[in-house]
Amino acid sequence: MSQIKPRMITPISLISQGTNSIYIKRDDLIPFSFGGNKARKASYFFQEIDAGGYDSVVTYGSSSSNHCRVVANMCVARKLPCTIISPEESSNPTFNSQMMSLFGAKILCVPVTKVHETIEGVLNDARLEGYNPYFIGGGGHGDLGTQAYFDCYEEIRHYETIEHIHFDYIFLASGTGTTQAGLVCGQLIHNEKRSIIGISIARTESKGRQVVVDSIISYLRNKNMIVPKDKILEATNFVDNYISEGYGSSSVMVRNTITKVMMNYGIPMDLTYTGKAYFGMLDYISRNGISGQNILFIHTGGTPLFFDALHNMQLKNLP
Ligand SMILES: *Cc1c(COP(=O)(O)O)cnc(C)c1O
Repeated sequence: MSQIKPRMITPISLISQGTNSIYIKRDDLIPFSFGGNKARKASYFFQEIDAGGYDSVVTYGSSSSNHCRVVANMCVARKLPCTIISPEESSNPTFNSQMMSLFGAKILCVPVTKVHETIEGVLNDARLEGYNPYFIGGGGHGDLGTQAYFDCYEEIRHYETIEHIHFDYIFLASGTGTTQAGLVCGQLIHNEKRSIIGISIARTESKGRQVVVDSIISYLRNKNMIVPKDKILEATNFVDNYISEGYGSSSVMVRNTITKVMMNYGIPMDLTYTGKAYFGMLDYISRNGISGQNILFIHTGGTPLFFDALHNMQLKNLP
């Protein structure tokens, strides 16, 4: 694993102060390809790609995938051929998918059941042709993705030290799980008391939580760090109350939340990830009677998806 760490410090600001103080960490402002957690993770994968003499990249994701847009952008900037395997079932055109095409990525749309074998086939064919392809798991899954958010946790601790503050809660949109896994690994290694809560954007509790736990175990094992299993389970909070009909679906309440956040704070969120998670966080806070706490929301990005929502007139003035 690479030792060099990209400098990626993003601002944290207090956005609202009522019964709780809500802060937001602006990972959407990471300065490459509209930022987001996928830009943070991809910078780690591309260090390995640059160092390892790879000559092409293969990855996986839907047409609304922020990960695929960032990877395609990093590839074109290096003149590396990029192949994206994409499930037919979620292939509606979006600004992200338009950018993937603009960046020259080769997009293979196949039924979701054929994704695995297509990836294997593409990698094998490339190797037979003498290429040395690098595969990145969907969403930047893998220990390097976890590493990116382990390092982000260190950034948060540094902020706490210089600002003399302690975040009692950290909320984030949780999908393929390594963003949450990295943060929880940081918490476990430093043995810190706070609740990190992943708001699921698609998966149900049992599956989603297990994927986060597996990523934590894999990362800690790789780093030779020993943490008892019950501590890992205790620290992994995965809430599936806000998934609606699953990936990409969202309620009117999420739309209203996005509109309000944009109007009040000038911060764009989206229907698939951050808007859903921010709405979920506010609801979770009120249902659980949480008050007098410092709460950090990680804005994981997805700015192009904000424009999809705006473009399709799904964001409306509030009554
Ligand atoms: C992918 C994504 C997430 C989820 O991150 P995971 O590491 O896959 O759990 C959250 N927010 C945005 C904007 C994303 O693109």
